[in-house]
Amino acid sequence: METNVQVHDKEFELLLEEDTIAKRIRLMAIQLNVDYENREPLFIAVLNGSFLFMADLMKEINLPCETEFIKVSSYHGTSSSGSVKDMMGMPANIKGRDIIIVEDIIDTGLTMQYILAEIYKLEPASVTVCSLLFKPEALKVELPELTYVGFEIPNEFVVGYGLDYDGLGRNLNHIYRAISIEK
Ligand code: 5GP
Repeated sequence: METNVQVHDKEFELLLEEDTIAKRIRLMAIQLNVDYENREPLFIAVLNGSFLFMADLMKEINLPCETEFIKVSSYHGTSSSGSVKDMMGMPANIKGRDIIIVEDIIDTGLTMQYILAEIYKLEPASVTVCSLLFKPEALKVELPELTYVGFEIPNEFVVGYGLDYDGLGRNLNHIYRAISIEK
């Protein structure tokens, strides 16, 4: 199997294979199915990067549940900007609900901190965060809501399986990490 890919000017190497990702997502879903038994959670996915993760996760969820999508900010280049400019599509039916936020990756955690603050204003019954990827070394804020993590990864820029590098790479089936990149 060809393990390296080129996206724009950068070379990336294989980090997580499609099969490994699929197996991990099935386990995350099993855990959610157990933890939310007899409840009707509202899943809110953060676009764009989480679209494949959300789709694959939802296929394994057998709870009665609703799904919504929000969009927060555009992400440019290879390091997190740390500032969230805009939030679109926040659902109106959050009050009193059990919310599960579905995210592709937690880097500094600043985006998620902003999303959480907006959601708490709408008085949910509970909020947890479910992220496919998490870079513990990059985290700058406390995120006690982060309960479900697919993979802890090194503090390196990744693409594939929904994640882009300047718009490209979301359609790659595996997840790749940049071979050499300035952060
Ligand atoms: P944070 O606010 O946690 O620093 O960054 C969260 C957002 O930055 C993610 O939703 C994602 O859009 C973007 N991001 C952070 N790290 C990476 C990465 O390694 N690759 C890609 N493609 N996006 C990333």
